[in-house]
Amino acid sequence: MTTIAALLAELSAAGVELRVVGERLHYRSRSGLTGGLRAALEEHKNALLQYLGRPGEREPEIAWRVTAMRAQLAALPTGTPLPFLIARPTPRTQGGCLSCGAPLQQAATGVTARCHPCLLAVWQVLKE
Ligand SMILES: [Zn+2]
Repeated sequence: MTTIAALLAELSAAGVELRVVGERLHYRSRSGLTGGLRAALEEHKNALLQYLGRPGEREPEIAWRVTAMRAQLAALPTGTPLPFLIARPTPRTQGGCLSCGAPLQQAATGVTARCHPCLLAVWQVLKE
C-alpha cells in the first residue's frame, strides 16, 4: 500500500501543492502532473482529504510540529517572505530532517529536507 505520507512526499518533490477547500482537494503544479501522479491523486483522493483535513488534531507527531511552526509564522512581521519553518532548533546533520533532526528515510528519493511529520505539519500550517 502506498502510504499517504509517502505520496505527499512524492508530490512535494514534484512541486505539487495540495489544498483542501471545503470537501474538495485542489492541487497546483508549476510543471504539470505526470500521469502516474495524477492517477495516484485520483486513487487516494479520499485518503488525502482525510489526512490533510485535520492532521494536527489526529496525529500527535504532527501536532507539536504544527504548534511550533504556527508560532514562527505568527511572529513574522506582515509582508515578510516565508522562512523555512522548523519544528525545533536542530543541528544540520547529514541525512537528518532540517526541521526536527529526525533521521530521514527518503534520502534515496531526493527528498532530503524534511521528514514526513514535518512535511505534513508545514502543509497544515500553510493552509490555515
Ligand atoms: Zn522533521
